[in-house]
Amino acid sequence: MLVSIVIPFYNEEESIVKTHEALNHEFVKESDINFEYVFVNDGSRDRTLDLMKEIVARDPKVKFVSFSRNFGKEAAILAGFEHATGELVVLMDGDLQHPPSVVRQMIQGYLEGYDIISAKRTRDGESRQQTFFAKAFYRVANNLMDIRLVDGVSDFRAFSRRAVDAIISLREYNRFSKGIFSWIGFKEKTIEYQNQLRQAGTTKFNFKSSMNYAIQGITSFNDRPLRLCVNVGLGCLALAALYVIWQFFAYILHPEDAVSGYFTTIFAVVLFGGIQLISIGVLGEYIGKIYYEVKQRPHYIIEQTNIKSDQEK
Ligand code: UDP
Ligand code: MG
Repeated sequence: MLVSIVIPFYNEEESIVKTHEALNHEFVKESDINFEYVFVNDGSRDRTLDLMKEIVARDPKVKFVSFSRNFGKEAAILAGFEHATGELVVLMDGDLQHPPSVVRQMIQGYLEGYDIISAKRTRDGESRQQTFFAKAFYRVANNLMDIRLVDGVSDFRAFSRRAVDAIISLREYNRFSKGIFSWIGFKEKTIEYQNQLRQAGTTKFNFKSSMNYAIQGITSFNDRPLRLCVNVGLGCLALAALYVIWQFFAYILHPEDAVSGYFTTIFAVVLFGGIQLISIGVLGEYIGKIYYEVKQRPHYIIEQTNIKSDQEK
């Protein structure tokens, strides 16, 4: 049995060697399972690629793919899946936050017949602000999307061959892995593990990129936000109609008070202006997505790799 470990790396010079050692340390005892590691360098600007090549020279189990620039974690995950050949493919982060010891339980889950085995972390040791935003995201996302996302289940998962093939078959440019993993279906098992704090380097996601991730996640999975705009618009229209009727009767009954209200005018302008701007923004979000999809660009460009292409084989 061959198990592929797929890891995206972006500016992980402080962790890549340790990650590789931790994997080998964990799997050295396994005798009846073969491992291959697929390391994807997502256009790192530090020494990650050099260190990766040193590892490749030492360890024949390691395949590497290096992008010509930073294409983002989603593209790196796709590249890893496309180059993995194992019958089970494990996706994990390259910053030691995903303990390799969980992989054994994942393999166990696969042997029990599950197609997706997800690791769910506790939120121990995380800043309160991070927890708050993450929880808020899951609440909003689960209300707005047709798929279910579980808090604490990140991209640390194992997939059977058919699940990987299903994931690769989704060719959309705007990829939102958490949604894709849920969308493909299949029997899923969840394993709990203790939250690990990042041991070296810094997170590659800041508030801005997390916001982008959240918007991307919600809009790339369905058109419910569009419907929401329409509903809010209809609600406002109904309110405005009631207001006009009320004003009309107020005028009929007390024509002497008919000094038109400055406040209500301003209020209406601001309210409707705001709603319209939000709605246009949501529309723009989707049009932007369509724009990228119709271009049909590749998800990533490979600059270097030690994997032979199909023609070379
Ligand atoms: N990563 C990547 N490309 C990016 C950003 C991140 O390949 O543009 C990788 C990163 O090297 C790490 C994983 O994705 O292996 C998760 O990133 P990070 O630990 O910064 O995210 P967090 O754990 O803070 O959510
Ligand atoms: Mg991390």
